[in-house]
Amino acid sequence: MVKTRIEEYCKKLKLSGILTAYSSLSDRAAKENLSFSEFLFLLLESEYETRNERSKQTILKFAGFPKIKTIDTFDFSFSSLDKTLINEILTMRFVDETKNILLIGPSGTGKTHLAIAIGYAAAQHRIKTKFITMADLAITLEAAETQNRLDSYIKKVINSARLLIIDEFGYFKLNEKQSNLLFQIVNKKYETGSIIITTNLSFIRWKEVLNNDEGLTTAILDRLIHHSYIINIKGESYRLRQKKKAGLLDFNPNSQGF
Ligand code: ADP
Ligand code: MG
Repeated sequence: MVKTRIEEYCKKLKLSGILTAYSSLSDRAAKENLSFSEFLFLLLESEYETRNERSKQTILKFAGFPKIKTIDTFDFSFSSLDKTLINEILTMRFVDETKNILLIGPSGTGKTHLAIAIGYAAAQHRIKTKFITMADLAITLEAAETQNRLDSYIKKVINSARLLIIDEFGYFKLNEKQSNLLFQIVNKKYETGSIIITTNLSFIRWKEVLNNDEGLTTAILDRLIHHSYIINIKGESYRLRQKKKAGLLDFNPNSQGF
């Protein structure tokens, strides 16, 4: 029976899009008197869309975003950010140009939100992306080195992602080993991939996080900054402003509001 054989071939050739769609598409082709070419086009289109969707899902899973944030929910009126620059970034040209993005600003100003939104947009462009906090990266790298699997971690995660997002540089102080490992990562990605890094610290204070190693700090910053967008986000915490707007804060130090 032809139906069974079609399904067999679809499975053998891994054409899951055609497998799901061919039956309803052939009904439609008969009903609408479509030409053979039009029918073939619809079949190929459904296969392409299925694969495209699957690959986006795989990329999203690999990225490991803690939650999904998109640019649509980012309120530019609350922020000192240049919307034109963010729109340029969202074209993903910066990944082709292996540029980095440094998002600098106090807590609550939307750095993580933006970093995820850019990473999410990258995944929609099928750019392999990895999101990790600085603390997790430092601990993972150190453990991998101790267990003799640093090369494989770097190959599987760091090298394979064209966009590496390191969130929260500043809250976690790296020891000597971790600082050196971070340098290795930044060095690997230099001019071969892109890094987005979010931080609450101005450059002058980065040394405090990197084991007070002046030389290493300069080497890391040099490579990060060379081809980069440096975005300073000013202002106060978004959450705090929302509360203020709602009249929940009166700025009396004894206030119980927050
Ligand atoms: P940061 O990483 O700078 O500490 P987050 O990105 O975690 O700040 O932002 C804190 C919360 O406020 C998040 O829920 C985020 O979605 C929200 N937020 C911050 N800035 C904005 C903004 N401009 N528009 C919409 N939501 C924002
Ligand atoms: Mg954050």
